[in-house]
Formats: sequence, structure tokens, C-alpha cells
Amino acid sequence: MDVSTTVKKLGLEQAFRYLYKDPEQNLLKLMDWADKFAKGEFAPQRAVLREVIENPDHPYHQYVLNLFRNVDEDVVKTIGVNFFINANLVGWSTQEEARRKYGCNVPWAILLDPTSACNLHCTGCWAAEYGNKLNLSFDEIDDIIRQGKELGVYMYIYTGGEPLVRKRDLIRLCEKHSDCVFLCFTNATLIDEAFADEMLRVKNFVPAISLEGFEEATDGRRGKGTYEKVIRAMELLQRKKLLYGISACYTSANYDSITSEAFYDSLIEKGAYFIWYFHYMPVGNDASPALLPTPEQRLEVYHRIRRLRRVKPLFAMDFQNDAEYVGGCIAGGRRYLHINANGDVDPCVFIHYSDSNIREKTLLECLRSPIFMAYHDGQPFNENMLRPCPMLENPQLLREMVHRTGARSTDLQSPESVDHLCGKCTAYAENWKPEAERLWEETKAGGK
Ligand code: SF4
Repeated sequence: MDVSTTVKKLGLEQAFRYLYKDPEQNLLKLMDWADKFAKGEFAPQRAVLREVIENPDHPYHQYVLNLFRNVDEDVVKTIGVNFFINANLVGWSTQEEARRKYGCNVPWAILLDPTSACNLHCTGCWAAEYGNKLNLSFDEIDDIIRQGKELGVYMYIYTGGEPLVRKRDLIRLCEKHSDCVFLCFTNATLIDEAFADEMLRVKNFVPAISLEGFEEATDGRRGKGTYEKVIRAMELLQRKKLLYGISACYTSANYDSITSEAFYDSLIEKGAYFIWYFHYMPVGNDASPALLPTPEQRLEVYHRIRRLRRVKPLFAMDFQNDAEYVGGCIAGGRRYLHINANGDVDPCVFIHYSDSNIREKTLLECLRSPIFMAYHDGQPFNENMLRPCPMLENPQLLREMVHRTGARSTDLQSPESVDHLCGKCTAYAENWKPEAERLWEETKAGGK
């Protein structure tokens, strides 16, 4: 770490200490100080931040104060430093350098499946398709992180399977890589008192709990009694002052309840700080296209999430409809990639086609492989940021990339041909296109 980064890290640590003395007053003072030294940089961002801090009616005013009052101080400081300094300030410049040097994508985050095993048996879970015998060993994950850090990656996101089946190893990895942030998609049923204490001890582990909606929807897919267990885990995390969020997949069946005000309110009351929305993807030979939202349903989701994030203290991201904020598709290593429990390196957590395995190639070699370079050269896949995906909204592109590069299906249970997968998206893409074009024109004109 160079001198200026060390100074910034110390500065951030000192700023946190100062804020904790009196968050409400000192946030304002710190903002005045930042404005004085910013010399005109980041003016729009600073204006939003000032509005949040000064206006007690702004939904994020309470959100920020809750973070300081209701989350463990050391957890906030550790995640703050690891996220802002390591994953962004230090990490970003190292990534940029590697992008220039190697002429390929270099990710900001790495998603990986520690195991394909799961303690639940959810209907239609793509993770379950891999069977339950595959694992990345502790040493393999450790080595992926070591290689990642060399390229500037300090964000690691566990998917699966149920990652917490391996919770002891995951805690050891948090300890060993105390400069990283570890986010974990989990069904939450394995979060208990002892694990919450371990999270408090390591301070850099953040769960993103999967929910389908309320009790009926969650138990319908994940099994009876699951919702109750999840609620108990959320209450435990809140009581232990731990930072956590929610991951939610919207379908034609649950889009209404999962984007409702009542759902938001229930999450805020239980101490969740963020919700990440994913559009249903018909991935896997058995996945039903009937669960794809209609254009009207997707539009409704688009408007609801945008409205609710203006009025509710819950940070919401809608990955399929928010692509404009990240310049389109972020897969193929542009901002992230996915490594499954067999070591296959997929461009995206939903795109199970690969030509590389981390047991045979270095991370950098994987990033320079034909399918990853096809992503690199093809991005953005559409100028319309409401049609970002080479599978969902532009299925001809994924079909072409997979055939051209010879990438193979990494679904070990039931390999699906790219033609079968993309065939399920063709009608969806055609139906969504006119709505997406209209909405994108409005967005560009500043109407949304
Ligand atoms: S491939 Fe599709 S689902 Fe994956 S990040 Fe890109 S746009 Fe999103």
C-alpha cells in the first residue's frame, strides 16, 4: 500500500472515530470539511450526501444514523475501510492497470461457490443442478483470493449450493483475508448464535439472505418452516448488531408481493440494510419460461423499485433494470465472474458456459480465454441499458459467442445446449423490446 493510500485509510479510520462520538452533529461537520477540501470534485454526489445528512425527512437520513447506532462499530469500520479503501480506491487502480497491461477484463468482484451441497431442496434451484458432491477446497479458495488481490480484487461473493454448509472454512478465509469484504448469498437457516458471534469477531462477512416473498411464497419453494427460520436468523443478526441484506428473485408468480411496500417495511423492521433484486432467468433444462415476467410485469417492477428507493430506508438494486448505472452487462470479468464448485470459470452466475477451469489455469489466463474475450469485445451488448443481457434480451448474441468460442456447458447434472437456453428467451426478448425502447428514450430525455 503506497503512502497516500495509507494516509487515506488512516483518515477514514479517524473520520469513523469522530463520527461515532455524535453521528448526527459530526456528519454535518465532516460534510463541511469535505466540501472545503473537495475543490469542486464529485459535486453532484456531495450534494446528494448533504441533502441526506441535512434533511431529517430524507429516507436515507435515518438509514445512515441506523448504520451508526444499530450496527456494531467495529463491523462498520472494517467493512467501510475494506470496501471504500481496499475494494475501490486501491483495488480499482490496480484493476485498471491490469486491464491496460493485459488487454482483457479484470473484475471488481469474484463470485464463487464453495460447495454445491445445500441443506434445503428448493424447487427449480439452479445450484441444485450441480449435484451435492462438489467443493472448492479451503486452499483453492484461498488461492483464488490471493490471485484476485494481485489483480486488485477485494470483494468476494459466495453463492452455491448453500455456502454456510462450509461456514468454518468461510470464517477462516475472513480471518486470513481480513482486508477483503465477503458477501454471502444464503438461505440463512444455518445462521445460529455461534456463527453470529464468529461474524462479529471477523467483522468482514455480510450475509445476503434469499427470500421469495412472505411465508407462503418462501415455504412454497424452499420447504415448510423455512420462512420462520429465516425470520429468526434476521432477528438474531439484528440483535447482534450485524450488517445484512436480502437477495430476491422476481418472477411472474411473485413480482407483486416481493416489490410491495409491505415487504419493504417488514425487511426494514427486521434490520435489513439492502435488497438486491434479480430477474428470473430460465437457466437449466427444466427451468420454466412461464416464470419469466411479462413486459407489463417487468415495467411494474421497474417503477415500483425506483419509487420505493426514493421513500424507504432500504438500499435497493434491481440488476436487470439498473444496468444504466454500471454501463450494461457486468459479466465476463468486466466487473465480476463466477467460479462454480467444480472450478469452472463462468462469465456470469447465470451463464453456465465456459472454456476454463481454475484448477487448470490461472485467474488471468481464464480472463484471457476465448469466451471471456468475446464478452470483453462485445460489451456493451446493447446501447439500450434496459436490454443489457446477451442471453435474456439479446439471445442471438450468447448463442453466437458460445458457438464461436467452443465454450461448453458447465452444468454437470444436466448440460443444457445454448440453443435450448436461448430458444427460451427469444419470445421474451421480442416482447420486451418495444417497451424497453420506449422507456429508454424517456430515460435519456430525462423523463424518469
Ligand atoms: S450476462 Fe446477463 S445476467 Fe449476467 S451480468 Fe450480463 S446482463 Fe446480467
